[in-house]
Amino acid sequence: MEAYEKSLTAQPSVNKKFVQYKSIVFGKSYLIAYVEDEWIKQMGSTLDAFAAQRWKFMTIAFPPLVFVPYSWMNLNSEKHISIIEHEIVHLNQFLIRKIPSFADNTIEVLKKEFLHTMRSEYEAYFIQLANYPLLYPEEKGFSLEEWCILRAYTQYLDRMLFWGALSRIPTENIISLLEWLKAELPKKFDYLGFEKTAGKKYSNQLADMVLTGISHIFKDYPQTPSAIGF
Ligand SMILES: [Zn+2]
Repeated sequence: MEAYEKSLTAQPSVNKKFVQYKSIVFGKSYLIAYVEDEWIKQMGSTLDAFAAQRWKFMTIAFPPLVFVPYSWMNLNSEKHISIIEHEIVHLNQFLIRKIPSFADNTIEVLKKEFLHTMRSEYEAYFIQLANYPLLYPEEKGFSLEEWCILRAYTQYLDRMLFWGALSRIPTENIISLLEWLKAELPKKFDYLGFEKTAGKKYSNQLADMVLTGISHIFKDYPQTPSAIGF
């Protein structure tokens, strides 16, 4: 663990601390890195914390790891714990499944990533909220299944829009992807075994959801390049 800390120290301005965290849901210990809040924010507009597969920094190969904002170090609220437990579901997914590489942003890769995100996020939200029901907003009228589908789907959509805004995904690929989602959501949700009505509903609401996603990006990242071309 010390070697990991030393190697991350080579990255200037990133405050970090590694801890062994005992998962309440899984009863096992996992490695967590507390890093600067700003650093986490740069990784994606929708993330409070995130899990990373095996990765390399300088000469050291890291095991799958959960990154958590430094400011959470002494926070033990149900919300914070449940988010860490959600990320630990992803660590387990990394350990037991082969996660495909999404290294490039071709339209075919973005479509595959859609299926992968829907499966892995649905599972993570379901385990999180089944164990921490306080965070499941029952009053909104969604069943737990519907809510987990919505969270997984908006997470994917927001990430794609965020990457599009940063030009990590070319605008024409974002447009093709949105057209594909509009046409295919009902079929793909059916294929994933999700509530059939949800696919149709989100296909119809795609334009509104895209506008909401873009407004979140501008709110969280006012410095985002103005050349959002979609
Ligand atoms: Zn997740």
